[in-house]
Amino acid sequence: MNTIKISGIVKESVVDGPGFRLVIFTQGCPRHCRGCQNPDLIPAIGGREMTPQEVLHLIKQNITSLTGGITFSGGDPLMQADALAETLKLFRLEYPQFSIWVYTGYTFEEVKHWPVLQYVDVLVDGSYEENKRDISLAFRGSSNQRLIDVKASLDGEIQCLSI
Ligand code: SF4
Repeated sequence: MNTIKISGIVKESVVDGPGFRLVIFTQGCPRHCRGCQNPDLIPAIGGREMTPQEVLHLIKQNITSLTGGITFSGGDPLMQADALAETLKLFRLEYPQFSIWVYTGYTFEEVKHWPVLQYVDVLVDGSYEENKRDISLAFRGSSNQRLIDVKASLDGEIQCLSI
């Protein structure tokens, strides 16, 4: 069975997508972006290995009455794409009303054909580029990063959220 390394959880974040969101942080990222916000999550060693069912249980324990969606951040959650896909599939079945956002250092073009994308509503793509840092942007740190409406973008031109 696939497992995914989880390094943390935040119950009611307002900076990782719209509304109050449950944020799950994964451990491990191969990039070493200067100015990375979560350098402790770069090493592949660390975190807690969990099955998708265990992650779903963790989510259930931490959802609150304010939760409006879930976000996977890291690290790079797509480094563990197979286990993430299984986790999101379980989550979708249990909580179809919640939106799913995923942060990644990959570009959308690199991962658009990956099975995990079918479970993602918004992909915040691209690694953080310090020389493109822009604190006026919502939910991302540098101007190369995009808030991609995945379903609208899979069959045609890339559609970004305008927030
Ligand atoms: S891709 Fe994201 S998590 Fe990975 S090093 Fe860059 S900023 Fe940090």
